[in-house]
Amino acid sequence: MAKIVIALGGNALGNDLKEQDSALTHSAQIIASLVKDGHDVIITHGNGPQVGKIHQVMNTQLEIPLHVSVAMSQGYIGFDLVRKLEHALHLEGVHVPVDYVLTMVEVDPHDKAFSHPTKPIGGFMNEALALELVKQGVPVVEDSGRGYRRVVASPKPKHITNLKSIQDAMQKHHVVVCAGGGGIPVVHTPHGYEGVEAVIDKDSASALLAKELDVDVLFILTAVEKVAVYYGTPKQRWLSTMSISETHQFIKEGHFAPGSMLPKVEAALTFVSGAKNKTTIITLLDKASEALKGETGTRIVSEV
Ligand code: ADP
Ligand code: MG
Repeated sequence: MAKIVIALGGNALGNDLKEQDSALTHSAQIIASLVKDGHDVIITHGNGPQVGKIHQVMNTQLEIPLHVSVAMSQGYIGFDLVRKLEHALHLEGVHVPVDYVLTMVEVDPHDKAFSHPTKPIGGFMNEALALELVKQGVPVVEDSGRGYRRVVASPKPKHITNLKSIQDAMQKHHVVVCAGGGGIPVVHTPHGYEGVEAVIDKDSASALLAKELDVDVLFILTAVEKVAVYYGTPKQRWLSTMSISETHQFIKEGHFAPGSMLPKVEAALTFVSGAKNKTTIITLLDKASEALKGETGTRIVSEV
């Protein structure tokens, strides 16, 4: 049986509270069946659409900073995720507690990301609205052919400050929900940790968490069954495995879109490079159980 960090993407969560309710009912069933199979499961999740909306409302009305919006998104998603998991485990007859850890992640205050925003948040908009925002000085990017989105600073995660609490829960074989939305970005100060205006990429934070917890598998569940080269073109080819050197080569050749697939393959490299018996699997949520058996998904495996 494996220790697994599962990173849930946007399609596991839905775009609003109503969608979240049904999406998480389904996601929780899939995770509960992995727990029933005897795996130790630590769950992280994204927050792109949610933090964008929370921040839009909170900041206009209350001048709430972005990191507080990230904290709110952990609660907003965590509440549904924990209660859905508890119920799904109950239906499976599995008596394992679900622990929730509000997670802060330390970043470098001098990270170059603060002057080069790259992380898409919020909903999609058309070109006209995007140009309007750019005129107001709000950075916007085109996101994988799906429309335009606001972008914010996405510094590299350095340290999971609540790691010990997560480790303790994992050692007791509890299901753990943590590092939501990549964790609340903080910097170390003489007064303790303080929040900073950013959103950490959840795939990047999940890779750091998986490494620090020394789990066996980093499971990135997203909207595609496999990773492709020449994605979205007539030459598109789905990959079942990528060696570490192939992954580096494909990154160099620009096969993975920044802000969507690139952070996932980079997370895979962070987790497996130079390590022993580690596997990253990128696949669809609905294919989780097949992918874990090696029947589908894209695997990036450690080589030493
Ligand atoms: P998540 O919410 O799970 O993090 P993202 O939208 O950020 O999902 O990333 C997954 C998306 O990446 C896919 O739905 C696909 O549109 C896009 N993508 C970009 N490049 C590739 C590629 N080379 N292979 C597969 N998918 C890709
Ligand atoms: Mg993403």
